[in-house]
Amino acid sequence: GFEAAPTPKLWFDGVLADVDTLQADLTTHAMHYGSGVFEGIRAYATAEGAAVFRLPEHMERMRRGAELLGMAFDVDEVTEAVLATLRANGHRDAYIRPLAWFGAGGFGLDVEGHPQHVMVSTTATRVHLSGARATVGVSSWRRNPADSLPPLKLCGAYVNSILAKREGKARGYDEALFVDHDGFVVECTGANVFLVKSGRVTAVEHRDALPGITRDTLIALTGAETRAVTLDELLDADEVFACGTAAEVAPIARIEDRGYGDNPVSRELATLYARVIRGQEPAYRHWLTEI
Ligand code: PMP
Repeated sequence: GFEAAPTPKLWFDGVLADVDTLQADLTTHAMHYGSGVFEGIRAYATAEGAAVFRLPEHMERMRRGAELLGMAFDVDEVTEAVLATLRANGHRDAYIRPLAWFGAGGFGLDVEGHPQHVMVSTTATRVHLSGARATVGVSSWRRNPADSLPPLKLCGAYVNSILAKREGKARGYDEALFVDHDGFVVECTGANVFLVKSGRVTAVEHRDALPGITRDTLIALTGAETRAVTLDELLDADEVFACGTAAEVAPIARIEDRGYGDNPVSRELATLYARVIRGQEPAYRHWLTEI
């Protein structure tokens, strides 16, 4: 016979609970002002069991965001919460979303002493081999400048990405690219950008871009140079790809009217990355935390 799927568990303030028993107050500070910080992390099935990719690096970036907001954040506790939630849900290939936020307790902007919460949710992910390549429009919006809003995964900062994504989709593209006032490439709405020219791999560097962990991984794997890149140089490249925890390595088919070929170097890197995250490259097993 059929068995009902178990109710997903979510970790909330130190306790694993059925997701449908939990709720948040409508006066939640983070809901009104975006006063929270989150992460996007992946777990993968490996030959030695499921493992989380670069968990300490994700926890450290989240800790920095929490520190900026003046929130207490216990890296060890949230690390354990991530592993416990994956185990409780029986997840192997999964997307992991921790969030720390200011809760109910008034609408003042002084958050000192404001009630705070932490949750971790995990969602099973399909292993996708679609090979579909994204089309990208250049956004008319500017990326949040780092001297107004540091490039960390702060909840409110993502309104900027939502605007660019909406515009890109409305113009018929899958994704949007942020370019600054001087014509330098920043990043996509939720992914960093690389180019390939004459077989040489370059990671786009920009102070307003999130310091991506996938970007860091690919720089370590390829020895790619990192430097500022103009939109003109990107359009003149042989290949362009975006990368991020969710996007992994995503070859780009077209930016505005500039079509790229079949991206052989990007595809090769995507294959290497797929092996690394699944523990198939012994030299990089230290990036995996077994659950
Ligand atoms: N830029 C932005 C704006 C993002 O949201 C993400 C996804 N976290 C990235 C880049 C890629 O970062 P990572 O490789 O750490 O996922």
